[in-house]
Amino acid sequence: MKKRTEALKVLVVEDSKVTLKVLCNFLERMGIPAPLKAETGQDAIAIYRKERPDIILLDAQLPDIDGFDIARQIRASEQKDDWTAILFLTSMTKDADLARGIEVGGDDYLMKPVSEVVLHAKVRAMRRLVEMQRDLVDVTHQLNAANKELQRLSTTDGLTGISNRRMFDELSVREWRRCERMKKPVALVMIDIDNFKLFNDQYGHQAGDDCLRAVAGQVARAAPRATDLAARYGGEEFVLVLGETDADGARWVAENVRQHVADLGIPHGTPQRRVTVSCGIASVMPEKGLALDALLRAADQALYRAKESGRDRVVVGAYGKL
Ligand code: GH3
Ligand code: MG
Ligand code: MG
Ligand code: MG
Repeated sequence: MKKRTEALKVLVVEDSKVTLKVLCNFLERMGIPAPLKAETGQDAIAIYRKERPDIILLDAQLPDIDGFDIARQIRASEQKDDWTAILFLTSMTKDADLARGIEVGGDDYLMKPVSEVVLHAKVRAMRRLVEMQRDLVDVTHQLNAANKELQRLSTTDGLTGISNRRMFDELSVREWRRCERMKKPVALVMIDIDNFKLFNDQYGHQAGDDCLRAVAGQVARAAPRATDLAARYGGEEFVLVLGETDADGARWVAENVRQHVADLGIPHGTPQRRVTVSCGIASVMPEKGLALDALLRAADQALYRAKESGRDRVVVGAYGKL
């Protein structure tokens, strides 16, 4: 990206050596040091490609390529965020020729012989345009970065850094539909930290937050496929959406999460003496008449049973059976 503070880079394309010298002197007198010079169209294009000048003073008539063609080529090769002001130098006086210069991408023209006063005024006007363009590019970059950050913030859980509930709501529906089209099962795993209220009471909220982050890391680790999703469902609950996964596959994933969390070895005043999680699973082949909500209820019900039967375990539920 070009910075506002950069000096103005000017290229003068003119086959008459005398005119070229005069124009460069004019430019130097207005504080543009060492303008770039080209005497042929070939040279002009080569220098343009290498130097990407801000302004080109372009002779309309050159021995090899005509100036209008050069302007056309420059406009065609300009990349996003990239703009060069083109000022035609012309001795042609027909309005149609001037119109043609603008049509092929020129921004203004100077009549030969060029007056120093007019040259200075027009270069100054072009400089203003170049600077506005640079500012616009800067602002566009800042806006893009801000938008990206906003997008990230709105889909990420602030505490744990994994996807938030909003992302779950959106992506679980998308995954349900994708699996319906593929005629593959989709599984949900609900994960809840055991006796977490007690943990907070014993070790404090700060330690509770650290624990949530550590558990979230293990949950995220369990969802490596591009279509998998690990999200914080709320409080100390997490959820995994696993596309193209049946109950056996989901049980294997959940069992891994349970084991990895236990392996963290975070001390806790429970019979297990460390932080553990309980998991509830449900998987179904999405089809007409079935609903994602019901699958979520089945997984939640399975989680409830995991809690009831002693915690630190995985229970597989069944869609429709509550
Ligand atoms: P169970 O084994 O039945 O799940 O018991 P539990 O204590 O984990 O469940 P309960 O729903 O009674 O308590 C959940 C606790 O999670 C209560 C709340 O203080 C804690 N919690 C929820 N969100 C946060 C958080 O963002 N940070 C911290 N530190 N604690 C949280
Ligand atoms: Mg000429
Ligand atoms: Mg809970
Ligand atoms: Mg809990």
